[in-house]
Amino acid sequence: MDRAPRSVLLVTPHQDDAEGGCGGTVGMWTKQGTKAVYVLCTNGDKGSSDPAMTSPALATIREEEQLNAAKVLGVESVVFLRHPDGELEDTLEVRRQVVREIRRHKPEVVMCIDPFRTTSHTHRDHRMSGMVALDAVFTYAWSPHHFPEQIAEEGLEPHQVSEIYMWGSERPDTYVDISETVDAKALSLSRHVSQMREPERLRERTRRRAANIGKRAGLPFAEGFRRIALDRKRLHWAAY
Ligand SMILES: [Zn+2]
Repeated sequence: MDRAPRSVLLVTPHQDDAEGGCGGTVGMWTKQGTKAVYVLCTNGDKGSSDPAMTSPALATIREEEQLNAAKVLGVESVVFLRHPDGELEDTLEVRRQVVREIRRHKPEVVMCIDPFRTTSHTHRDHRMSGMVALDAVFTYAWSPHHFPEQIAEEGLEPHQVSEIYMWGSERPDTYVDISETVDAKALSLSRHVSQMREPERLRERTRRRAANIGKRAGLPFAEGFRRIALDRKRLHWAAY
């Protein structure tokens, strides 16, 4: 994409995943006028090694931290689905929730985690959120025959997403120059205070990772994605 999209919706499993995976890109795009929305699937209530911390308290803390991080990147709103951490499943109900947000916000681009990894293991919620996002985009969100009650009773319309950007992919094919926002990315990550180890090294670590990705694309700092351009006609042929 040689321009920032009009709108982007991120389907993200836990607090801080979006900032770590694509915070630089989201920041670049919102600077250029893109409307960005997060759909945060879980409440992150298991993300602590402190036995004195309770899950309800952690969920509250992490919701606040996510709002603060999203603000740094110019994200317009965060939709909290609040599934328990580690218990996100690829169910019809979760797909219904994500489709509702796609139909509400009508994003040009959807971003999610690449659920298809073969050389390393990832968190279960990451795989589930990626699968739900991909299926929600195609075929569920665009067909009026999926979740028709959203159209008949909630006033929503079917929506065709143009492109999917998957972060965390083993096979990135698209790189975004984040030179202008690599420090904003680190700043947004720093807002997840409860998750921070060695906060004093965060900026340097974020820059180093972005520089390593950038080397593959001849860019000073970058984020990499596996991208799918959605041509409905072509997808139809592939699907059927
Ligand atoms: Zn995560």
